Amino acid sequence: MAEIISGTAIRKEILSELKQEIQEMHEKHGIVPGLATILVGNNPASVSYVTLKAKTAKDIGCLEIQDNRPENISEQELLDIIRQYNDDPRIHGILVQLPLPRHINENKVLYAIDPDKDVDGFHPVNVGRMLIGGEVTGFLPCTPAGIQEMLVRSGTELSGAEVVVVGRSNIVGKPLSVLLAQKGRGGNATVTMVHTGTRNLAEHCRRADVLIVAAGRPGLVQADWIKPGATVIDVGVNRIGFNETTGKPILSGDVDFEAAEKIAGKITPVPGGVGPMTIAMLMKNTVLSAKRHLNLC
Ligand code: NAP
Repeated sequence: MAEIISGTAIRKEILSELKQEIQEMHEKHGIVPGLATILVGNNPASVSYVTLKAKTAKDIGCLEIQDNRPENISEQELLDIIRQYNDDPRIHGILVQLPLPRHINENKVLYAIDPDKDVDGFHPVNVGRMLIGGEVTGFLPCTPAGIQEMLVRSGTELSGAEVVVVGRSNIVGKPLSVLLAQKGRGGNATVTMVHTGTRNLAEHCRRADVLIVAAGRPGLVQADWIKPGATVIDVGVNRIGFNETTGKPILSGDVDFEAAEKIAGKITPVPGGVGPMTIAMLMKNTVLSAKRHLNLC
């Protein structure tokens, strides 16, 4: 049976390290990292994501400003709010919860965030910095960075490994493929990125030492697509029904977990795998931003 890589346990480890760093930063320099989370409207999923991000930031000792705005806020008002946080020295990270209402241009809003406070890593300047790599460091996008961190902390060998990434989205597949191919810690892999235009998808997956699936298609990857002993990271979060007792959605990944855990060497569950890592990396980026502000790195 495969070893389970628990994102919940790794997140706990990372948050406890960050809490310690924040305490030391406060003692030595008299400041704590500041995170502003901006939520427009009251979409229930967005409210719950933002609340969790804000609570986590507070729990580890950050200054947290949860800025909730009405659905009918104008694009210009939102841009003005972002500029205020760009200029606020107490704030080191700005996060705008997506999606935004249709009358607001999402890219315009995301691109208004100062790249040096863009802790989500979505600004084109940070995407460019990630692509260049090496000494040029910005903020890495949270989900791909979280997956890389899980691989490193679970002792998965990446250098020289055949990695196959299913999916080429701008938030997961594409940046992750770049990160894992970069020279250095947590990289140096030979990466193949596959998508709906790929011929013989199963064949590509079968030769992966590390198979990462971010397609948003429940049960896409079957056990016979997995090389025995491979590490399987299931990024997919799909609602496949509702639990009538709890009233909560039933979630499934993109991998047939029960069959896959009999073949894989290591595997992530859904939920409790990649999901918890995203928030941990958001906090890591916020602390990193504060350290840069203090010229500590
Ligand atoms: P997305 O933008 O819909 O992209 C999905 C990608 O998968 C596309 O590149 C698509 O190919 C490819 N794909 C879909 N079906 C395929 C198939 N049958 N064969 C081969 N390739 C296929 O999705 P996303 O935003 O990257 O998210 C992917 C999944 O990860 C979703 O379930 C999402 O909920 C989850 N997710 C989880 C987290 C987290 O846990 N923190 C964060 C982000 C996303 P084409 O480009 O050819 O269409």
